[in-house]
Amino acid sequence: MKPLDIYTLVFMNAFICIGMSVIMFSVHRTFKSEVQGVGHWAWAQLMTLLALPILATQGILSEYVAIPGFNGAMLWGQGMTLIGTQLFYGQKPSWRLFLFIWGLTIAGLMWWLVVNPDFSMRVAIYSLTTFVMYCALIRLVWRHGEKHFSSYFFMVLLLVHAGLNLLRGSVALTLDETSVNLAKGSNLATTYLATSTILVQLLSVVFLVMASRRLKAVLEQRAVEDPLTGVLNRRGCGAYYERLQLHARQADFPLALLAIDLDHFKCVNDLHGHAVGDQVLVFVVGKIRQLLRECDQIARFGGEEFVVVLPGTTVAEARLVAARIQASLKNAQTDLPLCTLSVGIASNASADDDFDHLLQRADAALYRAKNNGRDSIETDHATQSGSETPVGQ
Ligand code: GH3
Ligand code: MG
Ligand code: MG
Repeated sequence: MKPLDIYTLVFMNAFICIGMSVIMFSVHRTFKSEVQGVGHWAWAQLMTLLALPILATQGILSEYVAIPGFNGAMLWGQGMTLIGTQLFYGQKPSWRLFLFIWGLTIAGLMWWLVVNPDFSMRVAIYSLTTFVMYCALIRLVWRHGEKHFSSYFFMVLLLVHAGLNLLRGSVALTLDETSVNLAKGSNLATTYLATSTILVQLLSVVFLVMASRRLKAVLEQRAVEDPLTGVLNRRGCGAYYERLQLHARQADFPLALLAIDLDHFKCVNDLHGHAVGDQVLVFVVGKIRQLLRECDQIARFGGEEFVVVLPGTTVAEARLVAARIQASLKNAQTDLPLCTLSVGIASNASADDDFDHLLQRADAALYRAKNNGRDSIETDHATQSGSETPVGQ
């Protein structure tokens, strides 16, 4: 069988690399803060792209330029893959370690190129460094990757890459050098090059799958989150309630809901400015959160209105929580201009009542609390009338 033409491989790889890196750069530019590391992955592709023509022009360029140029670009590409993946998983990028390994490897290559020319040693050094880089990547994905096909596929590609380099390094040290020289077109060398080329392309597909999954998760989170305070918004709170309903064991009911509204909050804005008003909102959320249990949920329903969901809580217990929230704001040690708050409480005894209905009842109670002069707590009439037997029981 005729070995694959090395130049065809180089060109094919170059074009696909360009396409993939353009896509990744555009993802990076558009979603810089949402998905980290994609820019580095794009650079990794470009470095591979840069390295392959250098390899193809061996013989035209001086070997003192071509050899460190090719190896340096390939290793830089691997380093960018490592750093990009660290950033993607929210880890601190190990730039110093990478630069140290990169510099040491290039120094070793130059030694066995200029001072003591030895092709096998150069292949062995390059392959071993690459092997170590891929092992570090496998460890990273193993530790931080989500349990999804894309992570497993990523690890398989890295394992094949690592294995190939270990094989090539070992062959370079034990067999004759022509079998591992990529420019000489031996079967082993061509197979190595062809496999590496395909692996590099598959890696970029994995990067894009991982990036799009991350983006989906970020956007989904954003759709249910209040950007100012970081707690759930109305939509998120509704979804949380539906989840509670779906998985509800009877033990989670009665469930109490607090509708909270800050009193005369407009005055805070008017007197101190909108920015201070925002700080007050964040502060109030922090204070309320401190008083809640892990299973409770607070949501901001716009403006200065909040809803607290208290699973497994009776009306009497909910009143205590509301009173504690009011007291903690009154006693808070802060320079912020805090105001009082009014609370409406409604309760469900069964998982059958829908969220909007419960909310309506809590809102009606809140309306009465406002009419009663504010800074007060009121319970919904339906809940009150069956006070000891909440609705649905
Ligand atoms: P009440 O006691 O009747 O609730 O009076 P209030 O002034 O709190 O109520 P009103 O609904 O009249 O005003 C709510 C104010 O909340 C009006 C608006 O300026 C302010 N507001 C709404 N959203 C935000 C926000 O995101 N940041 C800040 N700082 N203020 C906001
Ligand atoms: Mg208000
Ligand atoms: Mg309001």
